Amino acid sequence: MSENKSTTAGVCPKIRLSSVSQSQARHHPVQIALTYRRLLIHSASGREWCKETAEKHYAEVESCREKSGTPQVPVVTRERLITVGCRGSVWTRGDLLVQPPILEANELVKYYRSREEPALDKLNLRVERGRIFTLLGRNGAGKTTFLRIASTQLLPTSGSLRVLGLDVVKEANAIRQKIAITPQEAKPLWTLNAIDHLILALMMRGVSHSAAAKKAREVIEALELTEFQKISSENLSGGLRQRILIAMTVASDVELMFLDEPTIGLDPIGRRRVWDELIRLKKEERRTIILTTHYMDEAEALSDDLALIERGKVLAKGTPAEVRSKHLVSKVRVDASAGFSADELAPYGRVTKAGNLLRLFVSERVAEEISRQALRRNASISVSPVTLDDVFVEIVGSRMEELDRDVERGADE
Ligand code: ATP
Repeated sequence: MSENKSTTAGVCPKIRLSSVSQSQARHHPVQIALTYRRLLIHSASGREWCKETAEKHYAEVESCREKSGTPQVPVVTRERLITVGCRGSVWTRGDLLVQPPILEANELVKYYRSREEPALDKLNLRVERGRIFTLLGRNGAGKTTFLRIASTQLLPTSGSLRVLGLDVVKEANAIRQKIAITPQEAKPLWTLNAIDHLILALMMRGVSHSAAAKKAREVIEALELTEFQKISSENLSGGLRQRILIAMTVASDVELMFLDEPTIGLDPIGRRRVWDELIRLKKEERRTIILTTHYMDEAEALSDDLALIERGKVLAKGTPAEVRSKHLVSKVRVDASAGFSADELAPYGRVTKAGNLLRLFVSERVAEEISRQALRRNASISVSPVTLDDVFVEIVGSRMEELDRDVERGADE
């Protein structure tokens, strides 16, 4: 595919694999076969049959090559990739076969008219397909603003945001066909029951009544709403109403779903049903899910990737393990109750208050030293592994201190 290489960026412009010609395939068969294999194996995570298909295909190509020296490489079509579990467009770049990110924000800025500070401040973010991506952040960090722009409900002030390869400002209508959203604080229609809501939502997307009714029953069962499906929403509890809203998003056959604090108000069992369904949608249907939450256990249980934002800027991003290890590298949490003062612990690290406890993150060696001191003075401490919750508090806490120092410096000058 060298004929397609861009002279400026040094990478191939985006080419749909379905448009790779037989002559390109003949010229660069091995690259295509290799990249095809790589993608299939990559997209096959958790789906053994995909991997087998990929291996079989690759073996065929290899044996052709050995026999004739001029292999017959089948042209890889988008349809074929979809059948092996890859939703959406697939493009090549150089000799690498990639799917473009499902969402890409560049220097995204949002100012609300009534506020001086931006709600989003040159935010850069990338979400890959087929993943569950979680946005974390304190109240007012900008999560909902971001989701509302990405789901074309709100216009950005500047910067760019592409969703499914489309521009949120210029191609909003096209995006709307392909996404579903459960907004924060949405309410179902009072007089309709769960079944009505789902059928209505699906028929508005062009699904026939019978197909919509079948899908509605499936989703209602998956989210354990069967018992309540015929009760109008005005007579349901808050948590059950929230489950109807989630069900409406889950039922739609869209590639990308946005869920803004979806499990707020749900009981622990209801939350787990929702988690199971979201994980199933990702694994079995290759959906991409972007959600926000304040529950760190939820972020930990669901996220393939996450970003922590504060005042409209990304403070940390990556897989939960990456974020944890990058920001609290090889540390453990020490909680000291009575017997230590904050000043005594301060030389070991940043001390924060957690209820009646003094909390700090230290290496295992330092934790041992503090334990010995605690034994000597008959004080009690507890040592435990770092959680995502700790990482959140630590990153945001450090950032707040930094901002406070900047303000103080500004005042001194
Ligand atoms: P939460 O976790 O509380 O839902 P969030 O991270 O979703 O918070 P946003 O709702 O995006 O935060 O708000 C970001 C900032 O923009 C906040 O300071 C908020 O006060 C402000 N804001 C949000 N909506 C508006 C609006 N319609 N007009 C003016 N300011 C707004």
